[in-house]
Amino acid sequence: MAKQGVVPDALTQPFWDAANEGRLVIQHCHACNRLQHPPASTCQHCGSGDHLAWKEMSGRGTIYNYGVVYDCPVRLLQHDQPFNVAVIMLDEDPGIQMYSHLPGTPVDAVPVGARVTVIFEATANGQKVPEWRVGGEPREPFQNRTMHGERSAQ
Ligand SMILES: [Zn+2]
Repeated sequence: MAKQGVVPDALTQPFWDAANEGRLVIQHCHACNRLQHPPASTCQHCGSGDHLAWKEMSGRGTIYNYGVVYDCPVRLLQHDQPFNVAVIMLDEDPGIQMYSHLPGTPVDAVPVGARVTVIFEATANGQKVPEWRVGGEPREPFQNRTMHGERSAQ
């Protein structure tokens, strides 16, 4: 089922554009060499606003923990209830955490500590969002590097 559409703003546009291209990018501060998510206009660690750039991730991570949602206020999600909400730690930085419904994993059967790989799912308005699957072949990191800067025809 299509999830609620995401509407990017100026700050998050590069994140969502990358998702549409099948890439997971996270803000990286060159001043203090830290990653941060969700995106912000300044580095949450050193306060710099001039050293933030988007960095492509490998798309691999580990399940830190999870919860099960039984009563979601978002109507589009309600007929999928109950569903998993897992916390994913990125390989590049365990402090960077993303949430996932873990498509393909039964409710309340989330293997904490398992390896996961990013996938990209289209939402109601066509915008793709990162999701995570348990196991699977990891993507080759940076496989699209030579294609950066090119936008495929829609
Ligand atoms: Zn910084």
